[in-house]
Amino acid sequence: MSRFSNVAHYQDFQELLGILSRSGNSYDMEKIKAAYEFAEKSHGDQRRVSGIPYILHPTSVACIIAELGLDTDSICGSLLHDVVEDTPVMLDEIRRIFGDDVAKLIDGVTKISKIPYSTREEQQAESIRKMLIAMADDIRVIIIKLADRLHNMRTMDCMPEQKRRDKSVENMQVYAPIAHRLGIKTLKEELEDRSLQYLDPIGYKEIEDALMLEEAERERFIESIKEQILEKTKNTIPNVYISGRVKSINSIYRKTIMRNQSINEIYDVFAVRVIVDNVSDCYNVLGVVHDIFKPIPNRFKDYISMPKQNMYRSLHTTVLDKKAIPFEVQIRTWEMHYTAEYGIAAHWKYKLGMKSGGKGRYQPYARLDSYRSGLSDPHPGRSPHGGR
Ligand code: MN
Repeated sequence: MSRFSNVAHYQDFQELLGILSRSGNSYDMEKIKAAYEFAEKSHGDQRRVSGIPYILHPTSVACIIAELGLDTDSICGSLLHDVVEDTPVMLDEIRRIFGDDVAKLIDGVTKISKIPYSTREEQQAESIRKMLIAMADDIRVIIIKLADRLHNMRTMDCMPEQKRRDKSVENMQVYAPIAHRLGIKTLKEELEDRSLQYLDPIGYKEIEDALMLEEAERERFIESIKEQILEKTKNTIPNVYISGRVKSINSIYRKTIMRNQSINEIYDVFAVRVIVDNVSDCYNVLGVVHDIFKPIPNRFKDYISMPKQNMYRSLHTTVLDKKAIPFEVQIRTWEMHYTAEYGIAAHWKYKLGMKSGGKGRYQPYARLDSYRSGLSDPHPGRSPHGGR
């Protein structure tokens, strides 16, 4: 699990408090503390299959939700999400103590958990996706459910093999596509990679080994690209932030094992991401990048003027370094970045995080309708703007 070795499998309440305070957002801490104590008391001596105290599961789910930047009620809902299903507590009691919103979130998550699955047919998976979306008239329900699935995947090692595989198939066919539709890339990629690891452990390890083999080299490569771009932009473009990434294992898998390409034929195993203050700086950076590195024809995509259906916006180009190693460059503003990483969840995070910036122009609620229509796309993943 080296790819995810930085993620603790279980996080406790202290860690949740840490995430909340680092976020700089304001929360109703009294309410969150009360929700935690209520959940802890309700779950009592219950344990996970691994023997770990049950309360650490909802607490970890709340940590995922907090990292996504969701609000107080979503965090309370996460902490309490298994209380109604797994303990004698009734929904009315939750409603009385924590209010209508929290009760509705928990009710939604509980109902989704009861949908019987049979994902053998692709088409059925699509109708399940639609049903889930239709049932959750509050999109936070779906996001909490995704976080619940993800945490279950993080702690799936002690489950019987058949169960691990069943859950992984459901993730691939139902939950990861939903995360993709909502644009929540962090959840989508980790759900897929963890599921792939159970569905094809050998293929997974092959790719992981290929990537691990050159880890030091890879880092030097990305570092040198970052330095070159920074050097050429430092006098002309302000506040250039650059990060590097290696493609997710599942997306490499889809290209290598399913399409029979060699890992060396994939152009975007390496990518650097350049984040700047505004749209015109994005195009200025693009000019600099094409000046330093040789662009590969037909690999330039302007998702700023033509956003993807899930609201993704960025400039993409693939270029070659001096040794003809291809890499992708993604150029975007911070606003685009939050939308790309956190999707629909970003409107909480961005709104809360931009107290000082005041860059305005961001109206996530106005776009909820286009999310909805995107969600009912009959061919998820098959559109030309589909999975990257
Ligand atoms: Mn759960």
